[in-house]
Amino acid sequence: MKVAVISNPRHRTGDLIEFMLLRAVHTFHHFVPVDLLVVEGELGEAEEGFLSELFRSMKHRKVDLPVVWLVRGGAESLPPAPERIPVNAEEVAPAALVERIRAAAGGFPEFHCSPFEATVAEFGADGSIRTGRCAMVVPAVPGVGDYHIHTRVAYCSENMDIPKALEMARLSNVGTIAFTEHSGQLYFCADDYWNGRYVWRTRGTEAGCRLFPRMAEYEKTLQEGESAGKFLHGFELDVDRNGDVALDAADRGLAQVRLGAVHHLAERFDPHIAARQFLFCTESLLKYGVNILAHPFRIFAWSGLPEPPELYEPVAELLKQYGVAAEINFHQNEPRLEFFDLCLKKGVKLSLGSDSHNLYEVGFFLPHFRFLTELGVMGRLDEVLFQFHDRKE
Ligand SMILES: [Zn+2]
Ligand SMILES: [Zn+2]
Repeated sequence: MKVAVISNPRHRTGDLIEFMLLRAVHTFHHFVPVDLLVVEGELGEAEEGFLSELFRSMKHRKVDLPVVWLVRGGAESLPPAPERIPVNAEEVAPAALVERIRAAAGGFPEFHCSPFEATVAEFGADGSIRTGRCAMVVPAVPGVGDYHIHTRVAYCSENMDIPKALEMARLSNVGTIAFTEHSGQLYFCADDYWNGRYVWRTRGTEAGCRLFPRMAEYEKTLQEGESAGKFLHGFELDVDRNGDVALDAADRGLAQVRLGAVHHLAERFDPHIAARQFLFCTESLLKYGVNILAHPFRIFAWSGLPEPPELYEPVAELLKQYGVAAEINFHQNEPRLEFFDLCLKKGVKLSLGSDSHNLYEVGFFLPHFRFLTELGVMGRLDEVLFQFHDRKE
């Protein structure tokens, strides 16, 4: 049995520790799975609703990780802790469980300080306890940027806000960030977008999707964010079945950083036709001139199709040919080592993207750094990572 413990979040108004707590919930639910998360010690300043985003996100993403709150302070009405917790063959009171882990670990790190560490304890069947630490932020590495962050304008935004995202990036040791909104969401209504109608009923045709222009709203949110700090902006560009990229000439001025993404396939019933269409749409994006190919191949899992490994070689070759980076992205996605290995061999740059729709995700690179470690490139990130250089600057 594995238990993670967070000690002393000590919230202060405006410190965004609630999003580090939420990051921990998602970490221990998915990336470093444990059976139970305990939050203990001082919760901090009383601020009504400070954990509302955490509970909302757990519900929204169907996170069933049990969380036990053994905290003092705060104004939250938290679920009561259970009287006993089963630990292997035993039943232990939560406070006693925490003390056992504290003793085995020789104390807990303070969660409210960077790098926002939790303790992970593994209970062996023989009664042994092995402990380790898990930080919510990666060490500062020059040149590391998060090139894939959504804004409040995204239909799928949960709580995005540019000033808070900038602060989350700073807390996460990420120096450069880029807001890259879904271009299709800025031209089409939510229903036409989510149902993928925009890829097969193209604009300007009689049966085409009605235009629903929202670009001004995106421009406004970027302008409003400018006073909060420096950031890059651009788009996650959508492409239709004809290979036309959804971006009007008039809006190209906003396209500083250009990600290309295949979010919908018009043909997804025959895997061979789907694969061919994916290649065509991908090459259309590269030809158009994107900097980064966002979450390569994710569309297959999202369409209920097996990922076609036979496309790794041609896609990596296209990226090389067009000088486009491949994005490592864990947002409801599992990148494959085999593909990224191939990219590295060809000299294709790797880009890190959190694909944030929720503030806890901004600059959350724990999975990305583990992936880079598995790829064996942690010692030469300056060589392999994509860096944005604005041609105008
Ligand atoms: Zn995407
Ligand atoms: Zn995205």
